[in-house]
Amino acid sequence: MNVDDCIFCRMARDEMKVDKLYEDDLVFAIYDINPRAPTHILIITREHILSALHLGPKHAATLGRMYTAAAKLAKEGGVADSGFRLAVNCGDDAGQTVYHLHMHLLAGRRLGPEG
Ligand code: 5GP
Ligand code: ZN
Repeated sequence: MNVDDCIFCRMARDEMKVDKLYEDDLVFAIYDINPRAPTHILIITREHILSALHLGPKHAATLGRMYTAAAKLAKEGGVADSGFRLAVNCGDDAGQTVYHLHMHLLAGRRLGPEG
């Protein structure tokens, strides 16, 4: 999947209409279209990074921003105190379906080890 066809790149470029809950120069956040918890938000890098396997030292700021954006969204969404999970799927066995780096913020119910 290249940057022209990638769904998250198209959202980043505003070619595809989607409500952004948060955005800055490095990341943006949207509601997952198929929520697996009462709160299910995706924090997505602006850069087309295929997966966690493709991260390097130059991505340190982007990675930090993913976490700080997630914490901000958790606080604003009222789930900071009850708890939340931040998850990044990498590869087939983890169920990665979109090969553009993103973090899941899951909250609003008791999350077991399998999610
Ligand atoms: P992955 O399975 O790669 O870890 O996560 C990809 C996520 O993107 C899935 O949870 C899926 O529901 C979500 N997703 C896929 N296409 C769209 C879309 O067009 N809009 C939104 N909001 N979420 C999407
Ligand atoms: Zn992409």
